[in-house]
Parts: sequence; C-alpha cells; structure tokens
Amino acid sequence: MALFHDLQALHAVHAVDSKILRARKEIAALDTGSGLAAEYNAAKAEAERLRAAAVKAQAEQHDGEMRLQSIEDKTKQVQKTLYSGTVAGPRELENLQKEIEMLGRQRGDAEETVLLAMDVAADRTKAADAAQAALDALAVRYRAVRNRYKERHAALTAEIATLETEHAVAAKPVPAALLTRYEGLRAKKGGIGAAVVDADGTCGACHTRLNTGLVDDAKAAASVQVCEYCGRILIPASFAAHG
Ligand SMILES: [Zn+2]
Repeated sequence: MALFHDLQALHAVHAVDSKILRARKEIAALDTGSGLAAEYNAAKAEAERLRAAAVKAQAEQHDGEMRLQSIEDKTKQVQKTLYSGTVAGPRELENLQKEIEMLGRQRGDAEETVLLAMDVAADRTKAADAAQAALDALAVRYRAVRNRYKERHAALTAEIATLETEHAVAAKPVPAALLTRYEGLRAKKGGIGAAVVDADGTCGACHTRLNTGLVDDAKAAASVQVCEYCGRILIPASFAAHG
C-alpha cells in the first residue's frame, strides 16, 4: 500500500496546485484597464479636435466683431464730418451720403456674419465642453480600474507565493519519480497534472466517465493509473479523505 500513501501525498500537492491555477486564472482575467485606456486616447483626440474647432470659431467671431466695430467707427467719423458744417458743396455732401449708405450695407452684412459666428462658436464650445467632461469621467473610471487591478493583482500574487511554499511542503513526501511525472503532466496539461476520480467514476479533470476496470485499478493502487482520455494521474476521491 506504499503507492496509496504516495497518491495521498500527491493529492495534497494537487489540491494546492488547483488553488495556484485558480489564482493564476484570476490574474489573467483581471481587467488591466487597457480597453479603457484605448477608449480614453480616442476620446482625448476627439476632445482636442473639438476644442481646436471651438477656439477657431471664437477667433472668427472676434474677427467679425472687430470688423463691425471698425465699420461703426468709420460711420461715426463720416457722420461727424457730414454734420460738422464744413462740407464744401453738394458734390461732397452726396459723396458722404453715399459712403454712409455703403457703410450701412457693410454694417448689415457684418452684423449677420457676427450673429452666425456667435451661433457656431457657442455650439462648438458646448460640444468641446461636453467632450472634455466625458474625457474627465473616463479618466476617473480608468484610475478606479487601475487601482482595483493593482490591488487584486498584488493580493493574488501574495496568495500564489504562499501557495508555492505550501506546494513545496506538500511535495516533500511524494517520491521523486512520481512527482516528476506529475509535474511533467502539470506543465503539459494546463496546470493540472492529476485528476480526482469522482464517486461515479468520472475523471475530475476532463469529466469523462472512466472504464470501471480502470477505476478499480486506481483504487487498488498497485500501480499508477492515468485517465484514458486526458492522461492525468488518477487519484480516487476516497484517498483524499484519509489525508
Ligand atoms: Zn481525464
């Protein structure tokens, strides 16, 4: 019954290794925040584009206002001349009146341009502000995800380190040849080198119903038996209970 005790010891190693595997899988499944980072970068580019468009529209509005101001100044100047009493004759009077009419038309166009520019600038500023707010919210979410990731990653890494120590302790009583065989299978088969045979004769790793003769041989523990489907070392569930 020497093998019975060896398999019992191996079961303890397998139990620890299952926990290590679960922790490693959890680390692999953690959200690193890379998806949010990509989303943030795209949103940042869009926010910058919208901000530049808003700044351009504000500059155009300002230009329009300056032009309107200069037309108004010019009009005042001409009106001042017109009513100053220094106008020499009807020809000059006519010219000044024509100039005022022309300035009036220019003023109308300039006012329309300014009103349109104000609308555009207001819309674009609103869009840029909204994009910035969305970007800020994304940054908050990203930081939260990163913090959760770092926290969970550190906890799982510490857990794995503890389990590795437990693994080393549990592996000591297992004969070298059996342990080497187990570790080889574990490395080759996704971190699981052994399989507990359930009460109904199913392989605990690949969940295939095993041949009853094979289950009996595994229970007899005269020699090491492996799952006929996945090749892992079979340990009857009853062996674990003795540990
Ligand atoms: Zn199997």
